Amino acid sequence: MTERAQSVLNGNRRALARAITLIESAKPSHRVEALALLDALRAAGPQPARQALRIGLSGTPGVGKSTFIESFGMMLVGQGLRVAVLAVDPSSTRSGGSILGDKTRMNLLAREANAYIRPTPSSNRLGGVARRTREATILCEAAGFDIILIETVGVGQSETMVAGISDVFLLLMAPAGGDELQGVKRGIMEIADMIVVNKADGDLKPAATRTCADYAGALMLLRKREQDPEGFPKAMLASAIEENGLDAIWAEVQALIAWRKSAGIWQKNRTAQAAAWFREEVEAGLLARLTEDFTLKSAFEREMDAVQRGESTPSAAAATVLGALKD
Ligand code: GDP
Repeated sequence: MTERAQSVLNGNRRALARAITLIESAKPSHRVEALALLDALRAAGPQPARQALRIGLSGTPGVGKSTFIESFGMMLVGQGLRVAVLAVDPSSTRSGGSILGDKTRMNLLAREANAYIRPTPSSNRLGGVARRTREATILCEAAGFDIILIETVGVGQSETMVAGISDVFLLLMAPAGGDELQGVKRGIMEIADMIVVNKADGDLKPAATRTCADYAGALMLLRKREQDPEGFPKAMLASAIEENGLDAIWAEVQALIAWRKSAGIWQKNRTAQAAAWFREEVEAGLLARLTEDFTLKSAFEREMDAVQRGESTPSAAAATVLGALKD
């Protein structure tokens, strides 16, 4: 066991922060160290006690994600649980600017000894958003956190990615103005385990209650999923600001997880996630070789040329390039 792995396992926060920085690095020598660290942590297992609950959380900017995580996180910390917060911000990888604007967020939680909030990495340090988040999750889990909240904004594919890393996926929604349901994409409804209608307080309460009932109705129309007990996916009300409804949401999350564990679905899901992760890493690696490996890259360009000039068929050209992979 290396010293680095041991200090992560000891729950040392600075060691954890440094380890996450290491896995975020795209530098090849750092990558070698990162893989060794992750493997050392794997070899230190299996440690069921260190199996954190991974909660994915998504919602459009302004819906109240930070406020919710702050209140929900404080409630969990108050129960003696250790809470880590990771953020996946697709905007920061494109523009360097962050929708999730980390600095001013979750001030109370950030001061808790039993909480760890990891800022969103800037684009230049990013070695693949999905990889970074998956590996950071593993590191937080090894460091003994009980709950890992993985937050993302509802942009692009980030929700699907976060759902693919989480054990439970919550979708935060705002109260709708009129009678109409907000335009939630069907796809995201299908991956949510719970829709939380936030801001159910003050003047917004009647609208929130109506919106919650609408979502509950819409969720009932979805096809039943194998991973759900009776009554899931669910729509629930919350006020992150007034800290209302959070304990009920937590109780439902725990009930869902307990059911999935007893039905063998938790483990099956984690195994499927590991398999998908492996597949993606291989595919990404192959794609990277196509652009980085000189021989392959030239073969690709040569064959592309041949296809465009009608001197080769796309299928034959692809076979030639793939043949060059063997070398
Ligand atoms: P995020 O962009 O999704 O992280 O949203 P924020 O947590 O930054 O919240 C956006 C705005 O909504 C802020 O002005 C919050 O004070 C407000 N907000 C968040 N939660 C609630 C809530 O439960 N009730 C009400 N009334 N406002 C809220």
